[in-house]
Amino acid sequence: MICILCKKHTNDVITKELRGGEKLPVFYCKRCDIGMLGQELSGEELKKYYAGKYRKIASPRLGFATNPKELFETAIPFQQDRVRLLKKHLGKNRRLLEVGCSAGMFLWHIRKYVKEAIGIDYDSRSAKFAARKCGCKTYDKDIERTDLEKKSFDIICAFQTLEHVKNPVDFIARYKKYLKPGGVMAIEVPNLRDALVYAYDLPNHKKFFYHISHTWYFSQKSLQKLMKQSGFRGEVFHIQDYNIFNHINWIINDKPQPSFSPGLASPVVNFRKNIELKIKSEISRFVIKMDESYKNKLSDLKITSNIFYIGRIK
Ligand SMILES: [Zn+2]
Repeated sequence: MICILCKKHTNDVITKELRGGEKLPVFYCKRCDIGMLGQELSGEELKKYYAGKYRKIASPRLGFATNPKELFETAIPFQQDRVRLLKKHLGKNRRLLEVGCSAGMFLWHIRKYVKEAIGIDYDSRSAKFAARKCGCKTYDKDIERTDLEKKSFDIICAFQTLEHVKNPVDFIARYKKYLKPGGVMAIEVPNLRDALVYAYDLPNHKKFFYHISHTWYFSQKSLQKLMKQSGFRGEVFHIQDYNIFNHINWIINDKPQPSFSPGLASPVVNFRKNIELKIKSEISRFVIKMDESYKNKLSDLKITSNIFYIGRIK
């Protein structure tokens, strides 16, 4: 396979099996530290996939189809890191576009900090839901087929989107045209160096981590390289979404929790009824502190679940 960043050939493979047992290789370029799914879907096939089948398999509850309302409600509490990292770029005169806005959970938070927030998602049910819920304009088609004008946005965001696209180099180039001079691009993707796959020996997690809808697996190095080649200057932040209980569950059982919400929320201990308040509050406080400290450690070591890039056009 030819690496999309350095254009050199590689035969190295990170895995030969994906989530659900599908036998497909993920190739790896060690010069760029990027994983690449060994499967060629055309742009049209991908669009069709995200308009339909995707949400039947990518659901907050493993094994159950989902809908925009459920997506919105499960993800709405977990947008703080994104808002916090973008804060200094926001303002009442700014126009923001989110590509891959899903049911609008980020738009809902961000709309009050900017002049206008607009979303795009190929899943038209989600795009419609987001528009209704957030009072934002949304589109369910390619940006080139909308009435949006080039050089009209101060900020363009794509969260958990770049790893799905046909070609990330083309993707960034297409959306860059819609940024004003000096505009900001914010990208969040899963981290190829997530502790669960990079640091711990968890064979089942490894099969779970690599899956058919992720065409690209970025690390800090490859994401920086892509953005630099695309004409941006910026930095990568390491953010951890899953909590320490979720990781302990993986470490001990090597299997996922049945639903992602408890793993993303603050860790919760179930106490017996009528237990003394002192025990309850001190243990809870300890657990929250432990979780914060674990997440900070993962971030220092750059082995968090997600990497977040913010950069400006050079
Ligand atoms: Zn390469």
